[in-house]
Amino acid sequence: MNKIAVFPGSFAPFTLGHQYIVERALPLFDKIIISIGINSDKSEYFSIEEREQWIKTIYSKNPKVEVKRYEELTVDFCAKIGAKYILRGLRNSNDFNYEKNIAQTNKDINSDIETIFIIGPARISHISSTIIRDIIKNGGDVSQFLPKEINL
Ligand code: ADP
Repeated sequence: MNKIAVFPGSFAPFTLGHQYIVERALPLFDKIIISIGINSDKSEYFSIEEREQWIKTIYSKNPKVEVKRYEELTVDFCAKIGAKYILRGLRNSNDFNYEKNIAQTNKDINSDIETIFIIGPARISHISSTIIRDIIKNGGDVSQFLPKEINL
């Protein structure tokens, strides 16, 4: 049976933090679907097409990684595409408190789906799309926080 993981987020923009989580998860799954939630509040700064294109470019040579957009509940999207796992990253205790509640709620809604957490190293734990957007809005250079394929 194929082990498919959905990595949900807004990816606005896709950062070295996101890339790290995907790399760590690749040996664990047959397929990772990077899934852009199109209802997220944070999604307006970059278009959905732009966000999809970055991810397609980064993983163009890796058939195990796909990008999709979705509008429904994450667990409903997982069930629809046959994914049994939700992949999330944990940076700090704020992430943990938030993610714990979401993971427990998702488990109540659909007990077939497991949320898997990956903790990254300290050198990337401060990288956040929200802070990167603030730097961009104020004219700063964000290249050190992004995969080399993304030029903003
Ligand atoms: P959301 O919009 O749901 O917060 P994001 O696009 O910001 O989603 O992030 C998607 C996932 O990537 C989340 O699980 C988040 O914790 C994780 N993530 C983002 N940046 C990092 C990082 N620097 N280190 C580890 N995980 C990260």
